[in-house]
Amino acid sequence: MARRTPPRRARPEAAGAGCLWAPWRSAYITRARTGGARCIFCFGRLGESGRRRRLVLHADPLALVMLNRYPYASGHILVAPRRHVASPEMLTAAELAATAAIIARAVAHLRAAYRPDGLNLGANLGRAAGAGIADHMHWHLVPRWEGDTNFMPVIGSTRVLPQALEETYALLGPHFQAAGAAST
Ligand SMILES: [Zn+2]
Repeated sequence: MARRTPPRRARPEAAGAGCLWAPWRSAYITRARTGGARCIFCFGRLGESGRRRRLVLHADPLALVMLNRYPYASGHILVAPRRHVASPEMLTAAELAATAAIIARAVAHLRAAYRPDGLNLGANLGRAAGAGIADHMHWHLVPRWEGDTNFMPVIGSTRVLPQALEETYALLGPHFQAAGAAST
């Protein structure tokens, strides 16, 4: 059986998108992979300080939203089911509906807060697909701007971000809270 290998970096956009969903370089993710750290998406009831420490913007009984601690652009957020499962076919209909609904809301909040020219929305299922945390599936939402691929790193771990995580949390938090979405 012939394996189709898609051309790499056929377009500048493709190179940028590949990089966006490639968080495996960080030591933090490495610890998560080897079992040295607990799953970042699994937590109990959180107060305000706990949400802030974990960068959680929204958590309801079925789905959650948090900032990516190692973002590839300002406003890079993650949406995950609350349940620790690796792939969408393992989710119940209610969980699928909840995650789809919060993805739609999160896109609206990112548009309102950042006015991006576009967004990347996607998930890496399995290590072979580039998942940094493969055991708890999650979607990446990344605001994009015309020409921003210029500053996306293709090789190496140094990222220059125009906005600190605390600022991003402060900017996006009110959008989620205004939607009545801050409860855990
Ligand atoms: Zn988990």
